[in-house]
Amino acid sequence: MAKTDNRRMAARRRAVMRKVKAGRADALLVTREEDVGYLSGFTGEDSFLLLARGRAALLTDGRYGEQARRECAGLEVIVRDGAMSTVVARAVKERGIRRLAVQSEDVTLLQREMLAKRLCGCKLVSMRGVVSGRRTVKDQGEIAAIRKAIRVAERAFRKLLAAGAEGLVGRSENDLAGELEYLMRLEGASAASFETIVAVGPHSSLPHHRPGKARIRRDQVVLIDWGAEVDGYCSDLTRVVAVGRIPPKLADVYEVVLRAQQAGIDAIRPGVATGTPDGAARAVIESAGYAAGILHSLGHGIGREVHEPPGLGRAAKAGRGSPRLRSGMVVTVEPGVYLPGLGGVRIEDDVLVTPGGARRLSTLPRSLKAMTLE
Ligand code: ZN
Ligand code: ZN
Repeated sequence: MAKTDNRRMAARRRAVMRKVKAGRADALLVTREEDVGYLSGFTGEDSFLLLARGRAALLTDGRYGEQARRECAGLEVIVRDGAMSTVVARAVKERGIRRLAVQSEDVTLLQREMLAKRLCGCKLVSMRGVVSGRRTVKDQGEIAAIRKAIRVAERAFRKLLAAGAEGLVGRSENDLAGELEYLMRLEGASAASFETIVAVGPHSSLPHHRPGKARIRRDQVVLIDWGAEVDGYCSDLTRVVAVGRIPPKLADVYEVVLRAQQAGIDAIRPGVATGTPDGAARAVIESAGYAAGILHSLGHGIGREVHEPPGLGRAAKAGRGSPRLRSGMVVTVEPGVYLPGLGGVRIEDDVLVTPGGARRLSTLPRSLKAMTLE
């Protein structure tokens, strides 16, 4: 790993430790995989990070010893020989830790019981969101990685559609999903950032339809929701493609959703409550008479995980203490309208919150004309 990365990780650990201390604990056991990676650079699994003042250690097992030493320069690496809880207890004792914070959003009841049993003279303290809260605001390196993940997903999508309607008619949802994931790998993705959704015709009214054997016919829509993972960061996009002519009712829905998405994007800027953009998009859909077709919130943060805070949801009403958007957050804006039996439209782009408002990071066209294949 580059030296600048090491410095960045160390700065992140110091910032998290300040919060841990403010929460009256003297150490934090980081168990959530994405948080371990964020604070250490480690890309393996089943490993914990013990953050204590001046002495951070990665607790891993024999499969990852060599990898951990390579990826986490400057960190102590402990390759465990027994149960994780025993090794944690030993490290806690050696460091004289009296109050150990655990990530309550991640630790299972069983893990907590095991830890409590093994730790003597050390109290467990629940702490929620102490790392994920910090991860909401991305630095330049993270934004660059997300941009790459978006470009890869976009190039793959363009290739998928390159042969026009002819290239799609007769093929199954599953076939299309598989090819898109393959194309993303060819373009540089380490994986799809989630299971690709391809929904043909009436299936598109199910927001999270699982691709199956249904085949694409002419004059149908295909909803595709996909993303790539590059350098550990995710993209998440949705387009509805008309294969030939779009059913007139769905054409109307398409224009409404497109306007709703723009209203949501226009409402994004630092300092606004996370519920505000959702309200703006919702108002457009409601005034067009499709309120009953709204089935989910406007969007979510993306980063190391495809769904992470902040959620751009209706529940997040403006008020004192309500969560606010901040410059450097990267969120999806993905309004949808779903009409059972007919189909649905969702348009999803990834945007960066900047001091001047939202900057769209994804570049695929959105108009119905551009998304219609002849
Ligand atoms: Zn999506
Ligand atoms: Zn999404």
